[in-house]
Amino acid sequence: MAQACEAAGRPPADVHLLAVSKTFGADAVLEAVAAGQRAFGENYIQEGVDKMVAVRAALPATLAYGALQWHCIGPIQSNKTRQVAEHFDWVHTVDRIKIAERLSAQRPDHLPPLQICIQVNVDGGATKSGVAPDQALELLRAVAKLPRLQVRGIMSIPDHAPNFAAQLAIHESARSLFDHIFALHEPRLEGFDTLSLGMTADLEAAIQAGSTMVRVGTGVFGGRTYPAA
Ligand SMILES: *Cc1c(COP(=O)(O)O)cnc(C)c1O
Repeated sequence: MAQACEAAGRPPADVHLLAVSKTFGADAVLEAVAAGQRAFGENYIQEGVDKMVAVRAALPATLAYGALQWHCIGPIQSNKTRQVAEHFDWVHTVDRIKIAERLSAQRPDHLPPLQICIQVNVDGGATKSGVAPDQALELLRAVAKLPRLQVRGIMSIPDHAPNFAAQLAIHESARSLFDHIFALHEPRLEGFDTLSLGMTADLEAAIQAGSTMVRVGTGVFGGRTYPAA
C-alpha cells in the first residue's frame, strides 16, 4: 500500500486497510490486532458475529473492544439485517432501499449510526449485486434520510481484469462517480468520504485510481479454504 501510494503521489494516510478476515478464525484476527490492525471485513453474517464474540472475549485487557471496527462486505438478505444492525459498524454492500430501511429501523439506540457505503456495479455485469452507476445518487439520497444510518461512500467489486491498465480503467469509472457525487456538496451527503475499492489482486490500481479503503484478505491472512456448502 505504501509503495502504491508513493507511485500514485498520494499520502499513505489517505488509504485505509480493511483486513478481510472471512474464513479465518478469531486467532487470526487477534494476531492482526496485536500487529496494530483495527478494521476487519466479514462477508458471512453469522460467521462474522460469532467471530466478534470470540475476539471480544479474548482481547487483551488494555484494548477496548470499541477500538475495533467491523465492516460487513457481503450480500445481505432481509432476514439478516437485524444481526448486521446490532453487531457491525459499517456496511459496504447496501444496494437497495429496503435493506437500508431495515438496517436503520433495527440499529440499536445505544450504538452510533451505522456507516454506509452503497455498492455500485461499475462494470455492469448483469448478474452482479450493486446499483447501476446512474442510480447511485438517488439511492444515496434515500439512505441519507434514514435516521440511524450515516452515508459514507461507494464501494465496488469489479470482475477480474487481466492487467494493471484494465484494472485501472474500471476503477477510474468508480472514481469518476465518486468525484461527481462529492462535487455536489449536498448538505445531506455530508460525511461522503469513502471510496471502497481494491482487493489483494488489484490494490495498486485501486490506489492509483483514488481508493480510500482497500479490502485485503489473501494479502494479509494468506489463501482461504472455503468450508463445503
Ligand atoms: C473476499 C473479499 C475481499 C478480499 O479479497 P482478497 O482477494 O482475498 O483480498 C474484498 N472484498 C470483498 C467484497 C470480498 O468478498
